[in-house]
Amino acid sequence: MRISERVQGFTESVIREMTRVVALHGGVNLAQGMPDFPPPREVVEAAHRALDGEFHQYAITWGAPRLRRAIADKYRKLYGMDVDPDRHVTVCCGSTETMLSTLLAVLNPGDQIIIFEPFYENYGPGCIIAGAEPVWVPLTAPEFTFDPDRLRRAVSPRTRAIVFNTPNNPSGKVFSRPELETIADVCLAHDLIAITDEIYEHIVFDGLGHTPIATLPGMADRTVTISGISKSYSVTGWRVGYAVAPPDISVGIRRAHDFVTVGAPHPLQEAAVTALTLPDSYYVWLREMYQAKRDLLLGSLKDAGFVTFTPHGAYYILTEVGHFLERYGIADDAAFAMWLVKEVGVATVPGSSFYAHAELGRTKIRFCFPKTDDVLREAGERLQKLSR
Ligand code: GLN
Repeated sequence: MRISERVQGFTESVIREMTRVVALHGGVNLAQGMPDFPPPREVVEAAHRALDGEFHQYAITWGAPRLRRAIADKYRKLYGMDVDPDRHVTVCCGSTETMLSTLLAVLNPGDQIIIFEPFYENYGPGCIIAGAEPVWVPLTAPEFTFDPDRLRRAVSPRTRAIVFNTPNNPSGKVFSRPELETIADVCLAHDLIAITDEIYEHIVFDGLGHTPIATLPGMADRTVTISGISKSYSVTGWRVGYAVAPPDISVGIRRAHDFVTVGAPHPLQEAAVTALTLPDSYYVWLREMYQAKRDLLLGSLKDAGFVTFTPHGAYYILTEVGHFLERYGIADDAAFAMWLVKEVGVATVPGSSFYAHAELGRTKIRFCFPKTDDVLREAGERLQKLSR
C-alpha cells in the first residue's frame, strides 16, 4: 500500500460520489448541498471588479484587511459580539479549511474531542489529520435533541473541545438556547473549547433566530465561531470561510492555516466584502426563499411516503426509509441511494455518511433543497413512483 494509514482511514465522500453517479445516469441531483441558481448580482459584479483591480497576489495570510473588518462589523451588528479584526479574525479557504486549521490549532495527538452525531462528514477526517480521537454524543430523532447527562459523561481528562454545527447539516436542527447553555456549562466546568460551525446561520425557518454560543456568558473567551460566504450568498465554489476566536487561539489557527493553504483567493475575499454588506432585506428574502423550498420538497417527500424530520434550518431534509428497504428488499441506505438514482433518477446522500456508527444511519437518506422550484418539482414527481 503506497498511501498513508492516515488517508486510508478516510472513506470517499459519498456526497461528491453521488454527484458523479447522477451525471452518469441522468436525473435530479439532490445530493451535494449547493445551489443551482446564481449568487446575488452585486456579489458577482464585485468579483469582476476585483479581478480588474489590484488583487492578483497573496492577501495577508490571515485575511484581507477590508474583509476582516467587514466580518468584525457583521458579528457586532448581528450578535453584539466584540470582535477585533486584527486579533480575532482569520480568513481561510472555506469553512472546511477553517475547521481543519482550528482542529490542528487546538488538538494534540491523543486528545479527545466531543462531536454530536449525526455530523457533517468532514469533521471525522479533520480529527484523523489532527491525530485526535472523536467521542460521539447522539442527537436523537425526531427533534435531534441530546441527553445532557450523556454529554457530561462523554468528558474525560483528555477532552479538549466540543464540535457542533447549528443549524445542523444533515438534520436541520437548530440548537435551542437551553441546549447551548448546557454545552456552555460543560465547557466552563471542564475548561473545554467550543468549536461551532455556523455556516447556515442565515438559513433558519419558522421564525427562529440564530444564536452563536460565543454570545453566552463566559464563552467568547473559549469559542471558535466558524462561518463563511458559501451558503449565505450561494458561492460554494469560492472557498472563503472564516473563524472568530480569542487572540491566543487565533494565533494557532493562523499558523496552521498559513502552512495548509497560505491564503484564500484574494479577489474573492475582496468581493466577499460586498456580500457581507448586503442590506438586511437580503437575509429576509433568503430565509423566505429557502423556507418555501423546504415546504415544497417536504410535501413531495411526505406524499411519496417518506417519514420526514422537518428541518428548522440549513437546506437538507433527513428522512427515514426503513419501510422502503423492507418493501423493495434493499439492504441499507447506501444501496437505497444507489437504487434511487438508477430507478427513480434522484440523487441523495445515504444517512450513514453522517454517522460514525453506520447502523444509526442505515435507514436514513438525506435530500438537499437549494435548487430551483422546477428542479424540486421534477424530483417530487419522480419520487411519486414510490407511493404507487
Ligand atoms: N456541505 C455540502 C453538503 O453537505 C457540500 C459537501 C461537500 O461537497 N463538501 O452537501
